[in-house]
Amino acid sequence: MKTKLEKSLAALEKEAVKKLQQFVQIESTTGIEQKGQAFIAELMKEAGMEMDIWCPTDDDLKGLKGYDGCGADNLGDRPNVVGIAKGSGQGRSLILNGHVDTVPAGDLSKWIYGPYSGHIKDGELYGRGACDMKAGLLAAVFAYKAVKDAGIKLKGDVQIQSVIGEELGGVGTLACVGRGYQADGAIIMEPTSNVITTGEVGTMLFRIIIDGKPAHGSASYEGVNAIDKFCYVYKEIRNWADEYNQNSDEKKDPRFKNYKVPCDLSFGIVNAGTWCAMLPEFLTAEGRYGFPIKESVASARKLFEKELERISQQDEWLAEHPVRVEWYNVAWEPYDLPASHPLVTTLQEVCAEAGMSTEIGGNPYGTDIKYMNDMNTPAVIFGPGTIKKGHFVNESVPIKEYLQAINILARMIVRWCGAVE
Ligand SMILES: [Zn+2]
Repeated sequence: MKTKLEKSLAALEKEAVKKLQQFVQIESTTGIEQKGQAFIAELMKEAGMEMDIWCPTDDDLKGLKGYDGCGADNLGDRPNVVGIAKGSGQGRSLILNGHVDTVPAGDLSKWIYGPYSGHIKDGELYGRGACDMKAGLLAAVFAYKAVKDAGIKLKGDVQIQSVIGEELGGVGTLACVGRGYQADGAIIMEPTSNVITTGEVGTMLFRIIIDGKPAHGSASYEGVNAIDKFCYVYKEIRNWADEYNQNSDEKKDPRFKNYKVPCDLSFGIVNAGTWCAMLPEFLTAEGRYGFPIKESVASARKLFEKELERISQQDEWLAEHPVRVEWYNVAWEPYDLPASHPLVTTLQEVCAEAGMSTEIGGNPYGTDIKYMNDMNTPAVIFGPGTIKKGHFVNESVPIKEYLQAINILARMIVRWCGAVE
């Protein structure tokens, strides 16, 4: 016999898929989130939630821990949306947090169905943001709707936070911290293939600058080629990164077993020179540095700086002209929640009930979970789709996982917040 909740879940499947298509069809690249937010706010309102919609300002955020790194420039007409359903009292409260913004579509000609098609083929729904993370965000709204439609009255409060600016540092979730939002538990619906994810490595962005000595290209031996120096520095940094990865706790941690390199360090931009027959005056290289959970942004920066110092000391030119490093204003602190925490065990219970895996995973990239400690809210990440498709051309999400996420989140809302008998 199907329960009331199972019946209402089955009844809304078709609509949930149709709405996901429409949601993906709305472009909501970081900075232009308005239309996406209007869409999701309307759905929350229809589900009977009270709405808190506001445009965060720089003044709201200044002074908050985490401000250096939230990407607070370029605010303005960019609404944050929080839907609230108050319980009858005595229950545990739950935050469901997701970001409405997406990365840009990139080269349009490479998209088979166009970046904002919402096209469905072989069980996958395609489009920018489908997996990162419109499916997860919308799953939360439909999960709450299923509970409501089933006539279940909750004891604890449910809050759905649809935030802006995650892709550039998480200004929207920081604004929720500033507004005083907190709860007894939170789920961030980033793509984890519906694996309960309790640990996240730290991430930061960096730029290194290497000085050279310009010379005519026919007499390069009279100068110092910053490109040659970079080749040396690159190899050394890569070796260092491989080593700290190999020795990291994450390498032994089963939560990260699906990731060959849990704390990846990579370069994405290299720039040097102004003329082909002249040695460049300097070179800049920018990259992304993932670091172990046991470190903090501050301690991981020190390790990196120390390594650059060692590398510089071993080279005659660089000993005199040490490699410099600049840190971007965006960084993600690591996060870890013990597997014994009730948020984790309760989520495992409902996954088991729905016949899904109760496995616990780890995250090799940064999410808004970095702010949950500031919100005094224990959190996990759990959502449909895989990060191996997020930010890629032809991004897609399996519809089956999206519907599973709605199912699990609905059960979790009832189990965590409690139902009035
Ligand atoms: Zn995301």
